[in-house]
Amino acid sequence: IGGHPKPQAGPMKPAGVKRIVAIASGKGGVGKSTVSSNLAVALAKQGRRVGLLDADIYGPSQPRMMGVSKRPASPDGKTIIPLTAHGVTMMSIGLMLDPDKAVVWRGPMLMGALQQMLGQVEWGDLDILIVDLPPGTGDVQLTLCQRAALDGAIVVSTPQDVALLDARKAIDMFNTLKTPILGLIENMSVFICPNCGHEAHIFGHGGVRAEAEKMDVPLLAQLPIDLDTRLAGDGGTPVAAGEGEVADAYARLARGLIE
Ligand code: ADP
Repeated sequence: IGGHPKPQAGPMKPAGVKRIVAIASGKGGVGKSTVSSNLAVALAKQGRRVGLLDADIYGPSQPRMMGVSKRPASPDGKTIIPLTAHGVTMMSIGLMLDPDKAVVWRGPMLMGALQQMLGQVEWGDLDILIVDLPPGTGDVQLTLCQRAALDGAIVVSTPQDVALLDARKAIDMFNTLKTPILGLIENMSVFICPNCGHEAHIFGHGGVRAEAEKMDVPLLAQLPIDLDTRLAGDGGTPVAAGEGEVADAYARLARGLIE
């Protein structure tokens, strides 16, 4: 992204986009990006026009997870043509940055980059735009909630106490900003041994359900710790693109989100 235009006042929702749903987490590494890419792919498989915006400026992982590395074209120097992968129209801040350089940006630069990704990318007509947020409760979240008219947020957490503690803060932020919370997703909820079928609750058990009940928000899915999920993510073809129990879980999640 060249230059850093002054953020303009007013909402930043792209014209042809029906709904914007953000995927958030309190902590990093809980699977927020994995859920974002898989949900986007599952929605596309169901015939929805889906966009995926990777707004995780500090660790953009969608290029790798979706298997794209090309720098998006900008023939007129103003608009940016998004990429397409697995039926999803996508754009990542990572495609505009040097992958080995750390990002040290101030608020106004962040706002400019976000504005470019929402306003200058030719998203076209989309049923839903999934936004992969950075972890935590910072400037990007604030800007998107206040200016991009988010239709809702989904908070991803593992059952671990430290993750839940931070998830609670994220939920609190969305409540304060009056962004509807569509629900919680428990990721890495259980490990089922592929050899003996034994279930191990590596990060704890029941915490996300209890939190969802306490906060009065739906628990949308419980996704296992799954080797294929990790391999598929690293390989650039999300597990939801294939068949199996995890793909089915994402298909159910996608159906629930659009109905
Ligand atoms: P975040 O976006 O919250 O930082 P990521 O989606 O990047 O988290 O996930 C962190 C790592 O954990 C990645 O290597 C990813 O492949 C892996 N991972 C995420 N969810 C699962 C899961 N359910 N099973 C196995 N590995 C997972």
